[in-house]
Amino acid sequence: MPTPSSLADSFGRSIRDLRISITDRCNFRCLYCLPETEEAANFYRGRFNPDKAKPINYSWKPRDHFLTYEEIERLVRILARLGVNKIRLTGGEPLLRRNVSNLVSRLAGVPGIDDIALTTNGFLFPDQAAGLHQAGLRRVTFSIDSLDPANFKKITGRDGLHLVKESIRVAKDLGFAPIKLNAVVIRHLNDHELVELARFAQIEKVAMRFIEFMPLDSSRAWQRDHVVGKAEILERVGSAMRLSPIRDENESTTAQRWMIEDGPAEIGVIAPVTEPFCGHCNRIRLTADGQIRTCLFSLGEHDIKESLRGGADDQAVIARLQAIIAQKEERHHIGEADFAQPDRTMSYIGG
Ligand code: SAM
Ligand code: SF4
Repeated sequence: MPTPSSLADSFGRSIRDLRISITDRCNFRCLYCLPETEEAANFYRGRFNPDKAKPINYSWKPRDHFLTYEEIERLVRILARLGVNKIRLTGGEPLLRRNVSNLVSRLAGVPGIDDIALTTNGFLFPDQAAGLHQAGLRRVTFSIDSLDPANFKKITGRDGLHLVKESIRVAKDLGFAPIKLNAVVIRHLNDHELVELARFAQIEKVAMRFIEFMPLDSSRAWQRDHVVGKAEILERVGSAMRLSPIRDENESTTAQRWMIEDGPAEIGVIAPVTEPFCGHCNRIRLTADGQIRTCLFSLGEHDIKESLRGGADDQAVIARLQAIIAQKEERHHIGEADFAQPDRTMSYIGG
């Protein structure tokens, strides 16, 4: 039985899941997230003009704007008392932040937190894996959008496929479980690799998650035509391997899942664009600079750092959190005439 939540929003959803972005910086430049150049961004904009290729400017938050590990731990302790039991560390690239295992061991010691996971591009994971495991991390997700080194580089801006593969090996050797792989699927970029990615997950005995491309890229180049929707992903993967649906007890999971029948591996599709799951969304996000976002697509943020640094006692922080959660949006508006892309994009918000 889940703990009763004192963090219910005005639509009756109880908040259980907190995604914490621990840095807005990244060592990759994925073209659907934080493209390095106009050329990369224009790949899917479809109007590339090489003469205009220029770097995109980022404004990183100064490091002292980031919540410290002590501040994050305090907030998580309070949230856990209110029913949050699941944490995912993300970014930017979370492993760029110093001594992440220190944060993991702090969070692993918080009563009520029974699930801590990390999403990483895998580039720095091999060196840090043992420390993270020792600190109590067991669940890890690696982003891997292509199995072709040249295409991987085109997508991420970095020559790093071999390191992601190495990360998967190291994670398996250390006993991380479950290990998941994320691939954002973009038409004409990596959709031809769908089956190969599913097969790779099958061979590696890990779970594959295909993610629909969302309008959260820093270049604002997202176009609906480049989204490969859930139905098409399933049809294409299903034409090469037999899939049977996995019934989920936990209705708040974002991925719909299938078992590869001659597995043992599963694939999942995260379909916020074609099949929004807002009705049972139980998550909030904390940005590296201490803002709470009640939806990935929120147009506003709520400053919790101010309360933490301003001397608020736990009761005052709880009251602030409850007031914030009460404002959680009913749903996102992707694809509707009134949709507006948030100012901050995926690498700042934390995916
Ligand atoms: N840097 C880490 C990584 O890439 O795994 C963690 C942060 S990243 C923002 C988290 C996840 O968001 C990644 O799996 C990434 O592929 C996904 N993502 C980033 N931009 C996206 C977009 N525009 N649409 C869908 N997913 C996106
Ligand atoms: Fe960095 Fe992750 Fe965004 Fe790629 S998806 S640019 S690795 S934050």
